[in-house]
Amino acid sequence: MKIDLHVHSSDLSLCGHIPSYELVDRYIEAGYDGFVLTNHFSREMAEHFDRHGIPQSEYFAHYKACYEKARAYGAEKGFLVLCGYEFRFNGSSNDYLVYGMLDEIGENCLEMFGWGPEKFGQFAREKDILFYQAHPFRNHMRVVKPSCLFGMEVHNGHPRHDSRNDIAMAWAEKYNLHKIAGSDCHQIEDVGLAGIEIEGTISTMEELCQLLREDRYKIYVR
Ligand SMILES: [Zn+2]
Ligand SMILES: [Zn+2]
Repeated sequence: MKIDLHVHSSDLSLCGHIPSYELVDRYIEAGYDGFVLTNHFSREMAEHFDRHGIPQSEYFAHYKACYEKARAYGAEKGFLVLCGYEFRFNGSSNDYLVYGMLDEIGENCLEMFGWGPEKFGQFAREKDILFYQAHPFRNHMRVVKPSCLFGMEVHNGHPRHDSRNDIAMAWAEKYNLHKIAGSDCHQIEDVGLAGIEIEGTISTMEELCQLLREDRYKIYVR
């Protein structure tokens, strides 16, 4: 299976231009079998939706409901859509990809946005949640202590940013971090630029997390 680990949809990411159903269609055309929706997940986004009629207390439920629509549309087409997050903590412009976060934890997200990577990293380790820094060597990012992280996005496909993927790869090698790749898809031209290839078939986030923990995949770059 070919799976993109970093995809944004227009319903949950202000910078995303593609509705989730169209993402599914485009990714099928591009030869993929699935993707993880990793929409921006932050206090800023909670405040944005609050201004548009969704109270902050319902932000997580809204996030999950939008994901559920994408999952159901994908399922009709035999395409796997899984739910991830691109976390941003208050007062920082760093981004983190999170896989395997349980719902009851997400319901506490407004508090979590205040935690920062060290506290969240420790929590993630305890709960077996996978916590990767996204595009750590882009402008305005600060690479965090490797001990906070499970891994690092060593190939980010975003064509309108220089993510300095070669430096991310060298850093991850040096500090023995798990390595992932994704398109960071926001627009049509970004569809399917990077992801992972796995042997066999998976159908749940738990199964994906198990493969990621054991590094049982190959990085795919178009
Ligand atoms: Zn974005
Ligand atoms: Zn992103």
